[in-house]
Amino acid sequence: MDKIVIKVGSALLTQNNALALNRLKNLVDFIAILSKKYHVILVSSGAVAAGFTLLNLDKKHIPNKQALASIGQPYLMHTYANEFKKYDMICSQVLLEKSIFNDNERLEHLKDAISVLLANNVIAIINENDLTAIDELVFGDNDQLSAYLTYHLNASLLIILSDIDGYYDDNPKINKNAKLIKNVSVISNKQLNAKHTANNEFATGGIVTKLKAANFLLKHNKKMFLSNGYDLKNIKEYMLDNIHNSGTLFSK
Ligand code: ADP
Repeated sequence: MDKIVIKVGSALLTQNNALALNRLKNLVDFIAILSKKYHVILVSSGAVAAGFTLLNLDKKHIPNKQALASIGQPYLMHTYANEFKKYDMICSQVLLEKSIFNDNERLEHLKDAISVLLANNVIAIINENDLTAIDELVFGDNDQLSAYLTYHLNASLLIILSDIDGYYDDNPKINKNAKLIKNVSVISNKQLNAKHTANNEFATGGIVTKLKAANFLLKHNKKMFLSNGYDLKNIKEYMLDNIHNSGTLFSK
């Protein structure tokens, strides 16, 4: 079976300072269907938001954000585990630091462990270890982390689910006439160096970190699909029926 990586951002998993439970449930329903066709690895943000539902700390202060991540991570995992249980599926928690990608020995151990999880139909749920690594909290780098994982675990596709339908020629939240670009095969330096524009108080990356992830994958002959995670219709059509109505496919 082909491996795919799905990354969900905070924008999707958060609503009114709480976990967006319905969207998380819809995501698990989708993964349960997909897992019949693919080995699925999930990269999930949302720990800080989950923590904030339990303890109200000022998120602007980085140590507070780290504390919230550490409170929220088990709560987030518990929520996932309950949902996967409905399908008799097990999920596992994998917390990583990005330095692992510069350390072949640790990387091999990670690959071996993930292989065991996949061989046993366990959904590995990966997040950056926010307590010790602040990159994700500062740069929204789960986009980058998921791209590295896609490449190193030799997955065929990275799906990024966000709060927009795909990549537009301008920020669709500001410019109502922005047009969605369905297929992207090259990304320019100008696009890569645009301002960070995350729009949600828990989101940090914006479109630029997604373009950087796509650029890395294009260079390594891998594909990325950016799609709407609020409404999974487009990604379902693409993955299950091979129909590309909307969403952006980054592919050579
Ligand atoms: P996530 O938490 O899912 O990673 P982000 O808020 O970090 O989401 O990034 C997605 C946001 O990027 C969109 O909601 C949109 O407002 C913004 N954005 C800026 N420019 C663009 C663009 N050209 N195309 C799509 N989205 C854009």
